[in-house]
Amino acid sequence: MVVERFAPSPTGYLHLGHGFSALTAYDAAIAQEGRFLLRIEDIDTARSKPEYEDAIYEDLRWLGIKWEEPVLRQSERMDHYNAALERLTDMGLCYPCSCTRRDIIEALSAPQEGSEQQFGPDGAIYPRTCCTRSMAQKSDTDAVRLDMRKAVAALGVLSGTGYTELGENVGWKSLSSDYLVERCGDIVLARRDIGTSYHLAVVVDDAAQAVTHVTRGADMAPATPIHVLLQNLLSLPTPNYRHHRLIRDDTGKRLAKRHDALALRTLRGSGWTPDDVREAVKP
Ligand code: GLU
Repeated sequence: MVVERFAPSPTGYLHLGHGFSALTAYDAAIAQEGRFLLRIEDIDTARSKPEYEDAIYEDLRWLGIKWEEPVLRQSERMDHYNAALERLTDMGLCYPCSCTRRDIIEALSAPQEGSEQQFGPDGAIYPRTCCTRSMAQKSDTDAVRLDMRKAVAALGVLSGTGYTELGENVGWKSLSSDYLVERCGDIVLARRDIGTSYHLAVVVDDAAQAVTHVTRGADMAPATPIHVLLQNLLSLPTPNYRHHRLIRDDTGKRLAKRHDALALRTLRGSGWTPDDVREAVKP
């Protein structure tokens, strides 16, 4: 049975791009007589707002999308993320990190580093300043990072580990240790302020919800190897992935939550119908 999901963060109003994403996943579930789930990704409690969550339900209903109840809300699942973090810690793959964003940028731009600052799916590639610290030394104000070198070594040869990509980019994608170590680096597993991270929570929840097909924007594709790595470390199943094209505005810019003019509720207010949305995002 196919299980698709849509996993918005209630940090702003959904725009045309979210509508496209939700409809793509929903239509795929319906076409295969599968299930469709909604997950509210609200671990960032400072940025998440109840009115945005309500607006998500309203906008999706308007689009004609139906999901199973109860809706899973990440803010209620910290125990599960903590358990996953503990497991990775017990495997010796984590270390605490006290670096601020500014510390990281400064370390990366220090002349002795000699290399260009690089950004990966988790932001600036962490220069491993804290990598020799042990979890026993963790303080309440520390973040927790995954030691990517150790994580890759723990899985052994990666060529047999990967995922199936559906859609335009169809095929088997093996994990690459160079990509994970050099381009992703020691990603954050638990932010100091929220105690978990997007990467850890999404992996734990896709497994908990038995999601078989993850449909999401191409902007998420660079993070997928991180998710597949975490699934393998945590002995969780790997779903199939489909990364769809991104919807852009008239100037070619990718839509963001601040694109009020293309928010679904603005379009609805100016007389658009759900069919107009479908028409607007047609390739
Ligand atoms: N919560 C993420 C977002 O709103 C979605 C990530 C995902 O689908 O895996 O961008």
